[in-house]
Amino acid sequence: MTARLDAYTAALDRAVAHTRSWLASMPDRPVPPRATADELRATLGGPLPDGPSDPADVVDLLAALAEPGLMAMPSGRFFGWVIGGTLPAALAADWLVSAWDQNTGMRYATPGAVAVEEAAADWILDVLGLPAGAAVGFTTGATMAHFVGLAAARQHVLSAVGWDLDRLGLSGSPRIRVLVGRERHETVDVALRYLGLGTPEVVSCDGQGRIRPDALGDALAAGAGPVIVCLQAGNVHSGAFDPVGAATELAHAHGAWVHVDGAFGLWAAAAPGLAHLVEGRSDVDSWTTDAHKTLNVPYDCGIAVVTRRQPVRAALGMRASYLVQDEGVGDPFERVPELSRRARGVPVWAALRSLGRAGVADLVAGLAGHARAIAAGIATVPGAEILNDVVFTQVCAAFGSDERTREVTARLLADGVTWMSGSRWHDRDVLRVSVSNWSTDAADVATAVDAVRRAAGA
Ligand SMILES: *Cc1c(COP(=O)(O)O)cnc(C)c1O
Repeated sequence: MTARLDAYTAALDRAVAHTRSWLASMPDRPVPPRATADELRATLGGPLPDGPSDPADVVDLLAALAEPGLMAMPSGRFFGWVIGGTLPAALAADWLVSAWDQNTGMRYATPGAVAVEEAAADWILDVLGLPAGAAVGFTTGATMAHFVGLAAARQHVLSAVGWDLDRLGLSGSPRIRVLVGRERHETVDVALRYLGLGTPEVVSCDGQGRIRPDALGDALAAGAGPVIVCLQAGNVHSGAFDPVGAATELAHAHGAWVHVDGAFGLWAAAAPGLAHLVEGRSDVDSWTTDAHKTLNVPYDCGIAVVTRRQPVRAALGMRASYLVQDEGVGDPFERVPELSRRARGVPVWAALRSLGRAGVADLVAGLAGHARAIAAGIATVPGAEILNDVVFTQVCAAFGSDERTREVTARLLADGVTWMSGSRWHDRDVLRVSVSNWSTDAADVATAVDAVRRAAGA
């Protein structure tokens, strides 16, 4: 046993050392990776060795070989996609999760991990202003949180018209209409496909990508039968929020279930100055959000919130004689797609416990403030134009023609001091900025704006 413990200690000590040097490299490190996946396959792959290797040596080898191919996503100068960094308490808690190695499916099996997650769930509902007592499931990400919310939706709307989904499945069932905004995130469509709900009906949006309530009203009135409406809080290009309260009221008047994708945007609810963006949120039936984006916990951690517990359990629960199931509040596995999983809600507990209510509010307000500062800075670059109303953490800029915007983006990425992805929005090529990292500060913002100015000046 001491030999085994020594092996753990040596390997973990190496992991701590490599972690320290990775984090220490963040302030000055160029953001892009230096090697491609194909290049790294040559050193990381090849034939599997016939015999064992020393665990600590394996950790050294892994760190050395993978490092050239790592993107500095935890850097305060990284503004790509919607990624987010990791808060210190959340990272350390994530290590404990691995060391504890708790299968977090059942309350009986791991009261410690489950109690931590249940406490985190209560805090999530509290800081986000969602109904206490809602079902909270910790999923791999927003995509699977959509799956949870929409599985409950499917169960509920079919049961409301007397269709026994469990016994009969979808074959021959009444058709479920699903209405989505034109600019919903593509993962909504993926989750609908997983659930056999087909391609949704698209409702038009305004200039910021928000669903138009009049168009939603027309779409709802144009059909009958079970309906699910998918709204969005936080557009990946503009950051815009659908009018959640008004749209939910309309949808409910037609008996629809309302699911909202708030992958990064739902966190606006935690900041007093931004909470108006998600007004009416407590009337929504199911929510998706991510902890690995705005809350800055390590990957992978999404959160599904469903106000009615019964359809979640009906859709995702199961019974097996060898389990020891909780007959009261129910087990974690009844609220997520998988039976066995890591205690991924534990870093959420640590993040919230370390920030406190004011810290969460400051984090979210800070991200939005930096986005406004970056937009204001880019707006002063000759030839630059900000295309969206910067209401939250997202900025879209153009530099004249599509060709020129692509050139500026390519030069910026080659420079490597900061990282922002290109995209297309409203038929234009754009430079897209997402402020999602807790560690971004005013100096990072200034550095990023300077880099854009250099890229646009050449
Ligand atoms: C990131 C994102 C998703 C998908 O989230 P994953 O955690 O990657 O599954 C869905 N919707 C929006 C608005 C997002 O920003």
